[in-house]
Amino acid sequence: MTARVDERLERAFDKRTATALGKLGLETVGDLLGHYPRRYADPGALSDIAALEVGEHVTILARVEQATVRPMRNRKGALMEVVVTDGKSRLSLTFFGKHRGSLYNHEKRLVPGAKGLFTGTVGLYRGSRQLTHPDFTLMGEESDLDSDEALLEHATKPIPIYPAAAGIPSWKIQGALRVVLDTLTDDDVPDPVPSDVGQRQGLPGRAAALRSLHRPATLDEAYKARHRMRFEEAFVLQAALAQRRARTAAEDATARPPLPAGKPGLLADFDASLPFVLTDGQREVGDEIAAELASPRPMHRLLQGEVGSGKTVVALRAMLQVVDAGGQAALLAPTEVLAAQHARTLRALLGPLADAGTLFGAERTGASTRVALLTGSLGAKARKEALLQAASGEAGIVVGTHALLSEHVQFADLGLVVVDEQHRFGVEQRDALRAKGRVSPHLLVMTATPIPRTVAMTVFGDLETSSLTEVPAGRAGITTVAVPAGNIRWTDRTWARVREEVDAGRRAYVVCARIHPDEETKTAAKDFDDVPEFLDLAGPGAEGGADRPPLRAVLEVVEELRSRPELAGIEVGVLHGQMPPDQKESAMARFASGEAPVLVSTTVVEVGVDVPEATAMVIFDADRFGISQLHQLRGRVGRGTDPGLCLLVSDAEPGTPAFARLEAMTQTTDGFKLANLDLELRSEGDVLGAAQSGRASSLRLLRVVKDAGLIEEARSAAVDVVRASPDLTEFPELAKAIRAQLDEDQEEFLERA
Ligand code: ADP
Ligand code: MG
Repeated sequence: MTARVDERLERAFDKRTATALGKLGLETVGDLLGHYPRRYADPGALSDIAALEVGEHVTILARVEQATVRPMRNRKGALMEVVVTDGKSRLSLTFFGKHRGSLYNHEKRLVPGAKGLFTGTVGLYRGSRQLTHPDFTLMGEESDLDSDEALLEHATKPIPIYPAAAGIPSWKIQGALRVVLDTLTDDDVPDPVPSDVGQRQGLPGRAAALRSLHRPATLDEAYKARHRMRFEEAFVLQAALAQRRARTAAEDATARPPLPAGKPGLLADFDASLPFVLTDGQREVGDEIAAELASPRPMHRLLQGEVGSGKTVVALRAMLQVVDAGGQAALLAPTEVLAAQHARTLRALLGPLADAGTLFGAERTGASTRVALLTGSLGAKARKEALLQAASGEAGIVVGTHALLSEHVQFADLGLVVVDEQHRFGVEQRDALRAKGRVSPHLLVMTATPIPRTVAMTVFGDLETSSLTEVPAGRAGITTVAVPAGNIRWTDRTWARVREEVDAGRRAYVVCARIHPDEETKTAAKDFDDVPEFLDLAGPGAEGGADRPPLRAVLEVVEELRSRPELAGIEVGVLHGQMPPDQKESAMARFASGEAPVLVSTTVVEVGVDVPEATAMVIFDADRFGISQLHQLRGRVGRGTDPGLCLLVSDAEPGTPAFARLEAMTQTTDGFKLANLDLELRSEGDVLGAAQSGRASSLRLLRVVKDAGLIEEARSAAVDVVRASPDLTEFPELAKAIRAQLDEDQEEFLERA
């Protein structure tokens, strides 16, 4: 026997109703029950028409006396005017439609004699009071509203308002639900939340909650029901994640323990050669990682830390431990520029430790290894050599981009995969690389995008997380100033400041939102194909009106700067995503060396680029970027001992959200504060990525920031349940809910990390 919730709507309803509901993507009774009200119209107190006050939110019990529809006089569309009466006074109701057809449902229902409840705010039009687009419920349309008494009783209840579609208005959905709810028993609605978990949380059962959601007696009851459904969403998701963690924990990996103290090795030599002391955070996280690498279970760890917090050093120490233990490490970067830079940085940090097999290596007595760089743009010879070094194990560390994932790349013994800026890598790539080990390699994912704990728990819930919260001492800090665009005095001053920095031997970035002046842009252009879906989508560019000046473009700004008197004699470089890889390389190199100390670029500089001499950054159209993106960009300057300066150029008006974002940027450099603020300013769909929005089976009520406490509780309850029954045989309804909710898209979302 199929459960009631699995019953097809064609069986439960007539064909027309079922087809109409199908337009909303609803196929089963369960789908219909899961179509939650978008909001509730508050009926307010029942009022006399004669006593209505303008501006008041009211509900009246009245009968339709007359209804007319006509085209509007001065613009497109149709207008429906309905006169209702309570027997003593009259009131008019107006409804607007795009065309006559869109008022068809109202015309059919609001016929003379129809009686019902009308809810809305009293307005004034040409001296008379009226309700515009009131919500209404009519007698006889619903089986239990067949008398004045029933209507009066109903009048005190919140009116659920459903997301509707053409041909299936809210009241029809309400009617269909009524039919289902009238005969719904507790057994019809399997509950994925085990009853003792629900009881401990003080939550109503699933059937009761659904009744309250769709037919609440009070708003309070409806909110309690929403809370329960939210908990359920969080609980099912967390149970799925707990299962994943448990499965991972049961996988085999090769243990890569550190060498015994006192025994010479790469890690020991590296530590001894470091020109600085590790921060406490680097030590703690390092110990955590070292212990996990030493275990025969694969590490799955997310390391987050501000730009410049020293993640690279932590990752390198982990890689060296693995190389000391006879394995290899792979480092994946999102772009060729970054991969090349990582290789350079690692070689520089390692010094003679990375000279194995070379002339210099011979001078070293201790262990040594090699860092191989493998990217798509390598020449045939260099590529062959790098491939050989990876396959033979000569290269203990292999750095690359997606090219590392190609079938040709073989490793002698891949023990650790480090992924930099994880959100630019999909799950397939991650799995492909992991599959290159004989057993699962250990995995370390690094991100500079601060992720609030509950987001990490929801989005990256199958990874353990560590954070580096302090930035190494000796950083001079950064000043951020919002600069009005188009103000000549400010503009002159900006370039004069850039000149001062360059004259003092430093470098400046100039960032633009797009490459070509004539390119169409709605939002700030992202200079990557695979836009990170998580947290640093460009800001709401739609805020700008049609009349705002066009976005500044790299190719236009570079010309302008080359002719500015302030910058006379200074070479201005260009960098953007459409340049061939070797040109990008050389642009970065010329900037780093100081040959071209001013670099005009797109957001390609956003991630990981490390030029310690860079002290100034000018960001054009700064209001078009999201907070996290601005934070990432800003992190590129002030990385050395000289103070940084970041100028946010924009024409955002005070009082707009765009202006608020820029103000926040000038007031704090705390990435976690900014990330939280950013989350408050954007919609959930952006937070969880496109796969999450508009999907019937996805998180509908849960809000990762607002519901932080609830997610924590759901997580701990879910962990207990999975511990008690790892394959969930004791909780078949939960297992089923996980299967249902985690269809393919959802799986991908979970694995986005
Ligand atoms: P991240 O990868 O987190 O952005 P990096 O590892 O690139 O940060 O570190 C940024 C800079 O700080 C590098 O030049 C690095 O050598 C330096 N650095 C790292 N750890 C320390 C430390 N403990 N003390 C001083 N400088 C450090
Ligand atoms: Mg780094």
